[in-house]
Amino acid sequence: MAAGRAAAGGLRLRLSSRLALVTGGGSGIGRAVCQRFADEGATVAVVDIDEGSANETLKSLPCDRQQHSVFRTDVTSPQSVHSLVSSVQEKFSRPPCITVNCAGITMDDLLLKMEAEAFDRVLKVNLMGTFLVIQAVAKALIASGTKGGSIVNLGSIVGKVGNLGQANYTASKAGVMALTKTSAKELARFGIRCNAILPGFIDTPMAAKVPPKILEKVLQLVPMGRLGDPSEVASACAFLASDDSSYITGANLEVTGGLFM
Ligand code: NAD
Repeated sequence: MAAGRAAAGGLRLRLSSRLALVTGGGSGIGRAVCQRFADEGATVAVVDIDEGSANETLKSLPCDRQQHSVFRTDVTSPQSVHSLVSSVQEKFSRPPCITVNCAGITMDDLLLKMEAEAFDRVLKVNLMGTFLVIQAVAKALIASGTKGGSIVNLGSIVGKVGNLGQANYTASKAGVMALTKTSAKELARFGIRCNAILPGFIDTPMAAKVPPKILEKVLQLVPMGRLGDPSEVASACAFLASDDSSYITGANLEVTGGLFM
């Protein structure tokens, strides 16, 4: 994490004066995205269902010019997402021109044992939550006449190749990839780009739930031979959020150390 933040310090402030909304901002990749964006000059709305962890992220952000803020939100609730976007607009007098959908969960089990509720819950958070946030943010951007926007969704490399014990999670992430492409097609005429990042195995609390024996086996398949750091995903998000990717939309950017290339 520290290495990634130091690297950002050497860059120009690509996100200066931008307002960024980051769901799942209280942990792992989302927290690293908030930190990277703030380091690059953005004002950050840190969004999470866990307000305590979102506040921890907030405390870690540099705040010389920007006024970052926390918004407790459940991305599975249309009402909660609606009031999130209204509250962000009220606080900052504009909608976020950058959105990163990092909120996500796993509820792993083998297909033959998986309860329907576990399938439904993971689809609700990972896929429907992403849809609700994209829709609410895009409506707000269009209504406000904002020129340009960038939405980045966290998919997963296992959404492309499947994974034992993750019927629900892999289906949700395949859905995120398709949702990203459809959003890119529909929103391009409003100047809104929409891309997905497909991480491999990244060192976060989510990956810490994977049994060590399985993680060891996965690592043997990673050409770079290590887990990714959340800051390495955050730097890919910063690229897709910035004008450096101004002609990129509907893309899936793999951040995997070469896993399943
Ligand atoms: P994490 O568990 O560290 O963080 C996820 C965050 O989402 C948490 O802060 C949690 O409170 C929040 N969240 C969960 N449900 C929510 C809800 N209903 N509303 C709002 N917030 C909610 O996970 P992470 O590893 O940082 O993963 C971030 C994203 O990256 C996820 O979408 C995940 O699927 C994806 N991803 C992670 C990895 C990995 O190896 N860590 C790999 C591929 C993809």
